[in-house]
Amino acid sequence: MRFDILTIFPDFFESPLKQSILGKAIEKGLVEIGVHNIRDFALDKHKTTDDSPYGGGDGMVMKAEPIVMAVESVKAGSNKNPKVVLTSPQGRQFNQQMAAEFAASDGLLIICGRYEGVDERVKELVVDMEVSVGDYVLSGGEVPALIIIDAVARLIPGVLGSDLSAKNDSFSHGLLEYPQYTRPESFRGLKVPEVLLSGNHQEIKTWRRAESVKRTMEKRPDLLERVQLTEKEKEYLKELKTNKQ
Ligand code: SAM
Repeated sequence: MRFDILTIFPDFFESPLKQSILGKAIEKGLVEIGVHNIRDFALDKHKTTDDSPYGGGDGMVMKAEPIVMAVESVKAGSNKNPKVVLTSPQGRQFNQQMAAEFAASDGLLIICGRYEGVDERVKELVVDMEVSVGDYVLSGGEVPALIIIDAVARLIPGVLGSDLSAKNDSFSHGLLEYPQYTRPESFRGLKVPEVLLSGNHQEIKTWRRAESVKRTMEKRPDLLERVQLTEKEKEYLKELKTNKQ
């Protein structure tokens, strides 16, 4: 899968794209990332990418021309049809389902805003979707772009050591993931649950699913409204709720 990033701070991506899972995915050729400097598409000799807002007010606004031209140039040089995503606190909230949809797409072209955001006409002319990473305001779209790329790349077959680890992650089946433990068996008096040492795969699977249901109820009860539970799990949930009261 290919990701293209439009930014006025291309150096921002240098280290994160070399590290760990993402770095390896790029090395293996499973993920391709193009980082493009919006400044290269500025029309004047000073390479201006922002200007003061019409109507007055604080801060600067990113100009439409360099961004629109950068999008058109990346698209013209690609044989795919990437979805153009504008990072914005006003966008649809990014989540695991959106990550899965993006992973199945042709590719993403992500625009990183700065200052007070981008000229509204960019959205009308070239943007397919505005995406927010949460209800808070960051200084730029570079961190959101990395969040989106990281979450999407994990879902591309072959990127994780074992494809199963993404399938069991929190949110992938509507529930939070079960608790995880590693060596030692006992640490400061806290023991690893017996069942995980039993070697009985069926019992471990049942325990993990029950723990997933339990912690989703405790931490994110809103998720349970959308998840399909078996009759037995519904009973278990009822029991948990009664014991809680
Ligand atoms: N004035 C804008 C507003 O109130 O909607 C906020 C601009 S913000 C300081 C600058 C840029 O950071 C945005 O254009 C966007 O690209 C990015 N950004 C900030 N918060 C974000 C969020 N929660 N999700 C996605 N992008 C965000």
